[in-house]
Amino acid sequence: MSVAAEQQTSAKLCRFCGTALRRTFVDLGMSPLCETYPSQADLDRGEMYYPLHVQVCEKCLLVQLGEYETPDRIFSDYPYFSSYSDSWLRHAQKYCAKMIERFGLGAHSFAVEVASNDGYLLQYFVKEGVPVLGIEPAANVAKVAVEKGVPTLVRFFGVAAAEELAVEGRRADLVLGNNVLAQVPDLNDFVEGLKILVKPEGVLTLEFPHLLQLIEQNEFDTIYHEHFSYFSMYTTMEILRAHGLKAFDVEELPSHGGSLRVYACRADSSTHAVAPAVAELLAKESRAGLASIEGYAGFAEAVKGVKLALVEFLLQAAREGKSVAGYGAPGKSATLLHYCGVGKDLISYTVDRSPYKQGRFLPGTHIPIYHPDRIRETRPDYVVILPWNLQSEIMEQLQFIREWGGRFIVPIPRIAIY
Ligand SMILES: [Zn+2]
Repeated sequence: MSVAAEQQTSAKLCRFCGTALRRTFVDLGMSPLCETYPSQADLDRGEMYYPLHVQVCEKCLLVQLGEYETPDRIFSDYPYFSSYSDSWLRHAQKYCAKMIERFGLGAHSFAVEVASNDGYLLQYFVKEGVPVLGIEPAANVAKVAVEKGVPTLVRFFGVAAAEELAVEGRRADLVLGNNVLAQVPDLNDFVEGLKILVKPEGVLTLEFPHLLQLIEQNEFDTIYHEHFSYFSMYTTMEILRAHGLKAFDVEELPSHGGSLRVYACRADSSTHAVAPAVAELLAKESRAGLASIEGYAGFAEAVKGVKLALVEFLLQAAREGKSVAGYGAPGKSATLLHYCGVGKDLISYTVDRSPYKQGRFLPGTHIPIYHPDRIRETRPDYVVILPWNLQSEIMEQLQFIREWGGRFIVPIPRIAIY
């Protein structure tokens, strides 16, 4: 579509800076909400599909997906499953130890996690005697946290929640948000809330998937309706600056296909010196083209290449009469399978460790989800690892498929056979 034609049909504005969005980053077609797992009875009903049309703002370069459904609808009926992988729990534990050491946190401190889930992370602060508060909108999930000894406030986070806590004298020495920034529809209200909640000399840490990795590793399946925004360091700093905050350090992490941990504080704080890592990462993004709108142009074509290679492989396997199963039922599998047009004729079933998902179906494709034992019982020739970010952990658990000559398929960044 030409820029002019797109302008006529699109009145969407950048969720950060309000500029009219006119550039497509990638259009992945239509996909159902990725965290709805239909039951057998649901299969007779229709299912809503929404566009996965991602745009990039020409002014602030924020890559973003429109709100095609209300956040209440997207996040409602969110089933609770404590499906944290062992490696993710280790990640949380290491984070807590590091923060305690670096910022001298102890019994005198106060740490708040926004979108704290079932207390999977804050539990490690509690063990070390650091007072904590979790903020979690899902009541059923917050209840599990409280039972674990992690005090948790049930509500959505933003300016209103932060002001209430500030009035009660409950500003925090450490405010952390892991994998929540992407899921916030009202970005400015959320970041302003973080500024209000952190003490004048306190620290804010944010972890989120890094746009540079998404682009370089073809991680298009991390684009789904729950993820409204996709951040570079450059754009993150613009957003922090607009809310009176500044980044003073950043780490690149391997989690979720490559994430950033950004350390920030109030712009007027003099406690935290800006580390060289900040400028180094900006330079790296600039070399990759992320500092100008032209750098975002090649992604759609790269993604198409991933699709062609995966579909070619699966068609060939089907013609040869090979059996193909999936492993995992992560949200991202909905995007991958819908964009690639892969249904149960090419991947006959998948398995997942979460009891909630077993006996249900992947959204849209209706590929059935079974207990992991199904793999040993049916001895498939190929196992497609859908949560590719956990591939080494999964391959280790499933080494037994070698007994019958089974092979692993990892679809991203480009199909690989192990
Ligand atoms: Zn913008």
